[in-house]
Amino acid sequence: MTSVTTGDLGEDVRGFAMDDIRRSDREIYDLIRQEEQRQCDKIRLIASENYVSSSVLQATGSILTNKYSEGYAGRRYYEGQQVIDQVERIAIQRAKDLFGAEHVNVQPYSGSPANIAVYLAFLQPGDTILGMALPHGGHLTHGARVSISGKYFKAESYALSRETGLLDYEEIRVKARACKPKILIAGHSAYPRIIDFERFRDIADEVGALLMVDMAHFAGLVAGGAHPSPLPWADVVTTTTHKSLRGPRGAVIMCRQQFAAAIDKAVFPGLQGGPHNNTTAAMAVAFGEAATQEFKDYASQVVANASMLAETLLKRGFDLITGGTDNHLLLVDLTNKGVTGKIAAKALDRAGLVVNYNAVPFDPRKPDDPSGIRIGTAAVTSRGFAETEMFQVGEWLNAVVSEPDNEMLIREMAADIASFCRDFPPPGIN
Ligand SMILES: *Cc1c(COP(=O)(O)O)cnc(C)c1O
Repeated sequence: MTSVTTGDLGEDVRGFAMDDIRRSDREIYDLIRQEEQRQCDKIRLIASENYVSSSVLQATGSILTNKYSEGYAGRRYYEGQQVIDQVERIAIQRAKDLFGAEHVNVQPYSGSPANIAVYLAFLQPGDTILGMALPHGGHLTHGARVSISGKYFKAESYALSRETGLLDYEEIRVKARACKPKILIAGHSAYPRIIDFERFRDIADEVGALLMVDMAHFAGLVAGGAHPSPLPWADVVTTTTHKSLRGPRGAVIMCRQQFAAAIDKAVFPGLQGGPHNNTTAAMAVAFGEAATQEFKDYASQVVANASMLAETLLKRGFDLITGGTDNHLLLVDLTNKGVTGKIAAKALDRAGLVVNYNAVPFDPRKPDDPSGIRIGTAAVTSRGFAETEMFQVGEWLNAVVSEPDNEMLIREMAADIASFCRDFPPPGIN
């Protein structure tokens, strides 16, 4: 949909055609272009973000958004599904092939509803779930008090080791024995290491729990062969499709065949109405892309980039939780640098390095002003950064964290970063 128009409004030669919205709604058009510029000019290091391809963008922006399709292929509640059924079947088949799943549901609107659907499929209100504690890197939907998952269920949590910052499987076993969860949840939003799925399986079996793995963050690495797959071990695997997997905003649930009916019923009619067919098509496109050699190269480069950044920051005296990373993210405790996560994140953003402030395990500070930052390498890898660029990013990060009040330095860096970024045009944006 590359548009080259020379009408009365001048040329619009960017990646995604927006001539019509430019005429009809200048206010929103301008904001989209501003965001596009921001995504070009800044180094995006938020661990859950990425750049989707123009093909994924086009499917997302397609007329499939016009169709209602409550139900599943061949069993819909409205007529006119001749095309949509095919789209959904293809998305499902591609996800099965990509991850080796027995059953796939591609309808969850996003990662949070996917997780809630799993609970709806297997739990009654008041039943026990056991997941990673939110301040240790678990997700809200793994039983946090403020979440429906913590309000409707008896949510127990496991913490990371105080000494190493690693998962302590013996502690998880002890917790599981004590609370006898119906569902044991593995998965995280901020853990820089690989999870031992086999040990989780073993614990789940010992206490008779279902094992659910939420691989929202690292699904792209699994798809690209740069991270072990939880599929052989888990009863149910959920994932968002828009993080390292580089698809549209959405989620899938994968499970063993024996749970297929329960999962499908929980998603619809249990939790949701009609699926977002435009998203389903974009997922199919993204899963097709994720099956290519190019995507495998991307996935291993994401990990190599995170390692390089870790190495650079360690040399500069940064305190990395667990001492490094095996995946796409780093969790940095800034206490020894004399700056809080929030002050650092805000200064870094002004300089053109976008991260989020993040709690570290056993953080003595409050969640809205914690001790750390989280840094991810998926988005920058999608725009072509490799080890050389990650070293430079590490040096920039160090300079800002050392002097977060030096506005002169920050202004100059923002200009340098914007010009540096010009050599790395992101997918989906010209
Ligand atoms: C991001 C994330 C989710 C939720 O995804 P949304 O699409 O934001 O609802 C769920 N679980 C984990 C582990 C995540 O990181």
